Amino acid sequence: MNELTMIELSMIELTNIHRDFLVGSQRVHALDDINLSIVAGEYISIMGPSGSGKSTLLNLIGLLDSATTGTYLLNQQNVTSLPDNQQAATRSKTIGFVFQAFHLIPRLTAAQNIELPLILAGTDPKLRHPLVNKAITEMDLTDRAQHTPDQLSGGQRQRVAIARATIMQPKLLLADEPTGNLDQKSGLDVINILEQLNRQGITVIIVTHDANIGERATRQIKMLDGRIESDQTLSQASI
Ligand code: ADP
Ligand code: MG
Repeated sequence: MNELTMIELSMIELTNIHRDFLVGSQRVHALDDINLSIVAGEYISIMGPSGSGKSTLLNLIGLLDSATTGTYLLNQQNVTSLPDNQQAATRSKTIGFVFQAFHLIPRLTAAQNIELPLILAGTDPKLRHPLVNKAITEMDLTDRAQHTPDQLSGGQRQRVAIARATIMQPKLLLADEPTGNLDQKSGLDVINILEQLNRQGITVIIVTHDANIGERATRQIKMLDGRIESDQTLSQASI
């Protein structure tokens, strides 16, 4: 494969990315010269100690944040410094995000939380409801659809969050410690769902502290002090 073909195939291409935060008069180098190329369909885990830049990297890939310097190409489009509204539009079409703390809207039911991205995207209500119902069935939430988040278990909340993150059929799913607030069984359910989505062709990037989860991915990136310390392709034996 020549170099041009490889560039064409990459979904995410980060070149010399730095992300600095100014805290008082001190500059924190959260990301320090990141170079990373990710191909559509990969299943990647990101590990590393607290403060090593994992969330900053995921937020940047997810267009929730922008680099201080460097270049980000997403599906061959330069998205390095898009205005906020274009960032949001690209995110809505392309990227799903799942967080450790679920980030559901407390006063909305499970079904309404899942429906929200469709409403924000202006989808016709006649199309919205079948999509929401399908997602609720797939996430095994049929008898919880009318419950609010405080009436759901952690595992159920995260399944609502995954349904919300995937309702727009994104090609890229980012999960920042999605099992961090869950017991082992619920955590494993969530990982199984993410892996099933990956088998359906969605690129999955998961930040995790859990070595057992990290090793299930087909590629493992370890971060240290804002840098990529190692980037390994793993055998797929564990899947
Ligand atoms: P991790 O997710 O690996 O625990 P983070 O990406 O959250 O690490 O943070 C990396 C570094 O950047 C840390 O030193 C953190 O304190 C700093 N940082 C992250 N976000 C901000 C922010 N909004 N303002 C200032 N410093 C930040
Ligand atoms: Mg983090």
